[in-house]
Amino acid sequence: MAVTVLIPTPLRPFVGGRDAVELEGGSVGELLDRLTGEHAALKPHLFATDGRLRSFVNVYVNDRDIRQLAQRETPVKAGDTVSIIPSIAGGTAVDVGAQHAAPGLPKLSHEEILRYSRHLILPDVGVEGQQKLKAARVLLVGAGGLGSPAALYLAAAGVGTLGLVDFDVVDKTNLQRQILHGTSTVGVSKLESATARIHDLNPNVRVETFETRLTSDNALDIIREFDIVADGTDNFPTRYLVNDACVLLDKPNVYGSIFRFEGQASVFHAKRGPCYRCLYSEPPPPGLVPSCAEGGVLGVLPGIIGSIQAMETIKLILGAGQPLIGRLVLFDALKLEFRELKLEKDPDCPVCGSHPTVTELIDYQAFCGIGAEPSYDGAEITAAELRDEWQRNPDLLLIDVREPHEHEIAHIDGAVLIPLGELPDRLGELDGHREIVTHCHHGARSLKALEILKAAGFSKVRSLRGGIDAWAVNVDPSLPRY
Ligand code: ZN
Repeated sequence: MAVTVLIPTPLRPFVGGRDAVELEGGSVGELLDRLTGEHAALKPHLFATDGRLRSFVNVYVNDRDIRQLAQRETPVKAGDTVSIIPSIAGGTAVDVGAQHAAPGLPKLSHEEILRYSRHLILPDVGVEGQQKLKAARVLLVGAGGLGSPAALYLAAAGVGTLGLVDFDVVDKTNLQRQILHGTSTVGVSKLESATARIHDLNPNVRVETFETRLTSDNALDIIREFDIVADGTDNFPTRYLVNDACVLLDKPNVYGSIFRFEGQASVFHAKRGPCYRCLYSEPPPPGLVPSCAEGGVLGVLPGIIGSIQAMETIKLILGAGQPLIGRLVLFDALKLEFRELKLEKDPDCPVCGSHPTVTELIDYQAFCGIGAEPSYDGAEITAAELRDEWQRNPDLLLIDVREPHEHEIAHIDGAVLIPLGELPDRLGELDGHREIVTHCHHGARSLKALEILKAAGFSKVRSLRGGIDAWAVNVDPSLPRY
């Protein structure tokens, strides 16, 4: 019997789409070497150039975090399960409860007593618990996929004050999962849409809105005013920002994140357990982990993870049960399987460790490598330019680097489909003398394709700015947008 190495969704394209690989080996190092030996494309995703395991990839043996052990030498035996978990673009209880348990908890009106009657008869809630909920101030960062169910359940449960941070407008593509919004509020600011829906659900909730991007300049001022933060962001800079601000202000951070069919949830509270940076001290380089816009997400998934965030938030307020501190819950929707990993606090964590190097908020865009990307001056072509040039030069080769299922939704006639993951192995099919233009959905993956082609010696390569979406808007309106 061999050791089973579980492969996470973002890395499956590099192992032929499989979710698990059986390997022989006596230690974690041996297994990983064998894995990347058999699947060379996986190597740069797991190891830095100096051979170290990348810091945004964690390895667990039988659900145990092995980073505090001698990582590579950690022994494994037949029948063990090794999980590779990369970061994906997520007494608090007693303390939070206690600070409101003092006399002076707000009284419940007759209307509230009736409304919350199913809570009031629960032994772990009761009148005092409901009063704690009413006194609580919870900040939701993001009113999107995760923020939607979290906001609705927290409002329904009677959390007295909900803060919402978002700067977006409701878009039709949001409605497949962002149940806080509706068709009637497409085009309206998410905060306005959310406030109306929350007040319809429960007019007793006070909604405080922050129509802004959370930044290093405003995060401490905003978060300071709340008891608990529920992080429903979809990007790494904001995740690290929320984490660091919560550590600095000693606030529990209820974390959730989603990707395609998988989700993660945890509660980070540095005083009582690890923080997000204890897990992932550094973010993946920009573009390595696709966003939901690029990678897709099953509509119900944020409903499940966001509901877990709401549940954990309520438990923290009530001081009930065991909070998800020091534990990471992984949810696989396709298998309908929950797994739980034990998390260790990293004594050298840069923000919550014994000698922190991060003692104030930093530039998170720069930290996540955003803005430091190579310049693509001259490497991009607009949709209109491509149309004109293609007419003059029919020999121009347009390569569609999206996935086949995206090609099925819409494609540009004459383009050749070579999914990004297959490109390195299919360079031989391409004629380096021809002008090449790469395209994808919105123009990000095609820049990666351009880099691969340039590195392989193709010189006449450009990328379609804005992807097939720009083509549908500016050149061929008969194509559906998605
Ligand atoms: Zn930490």
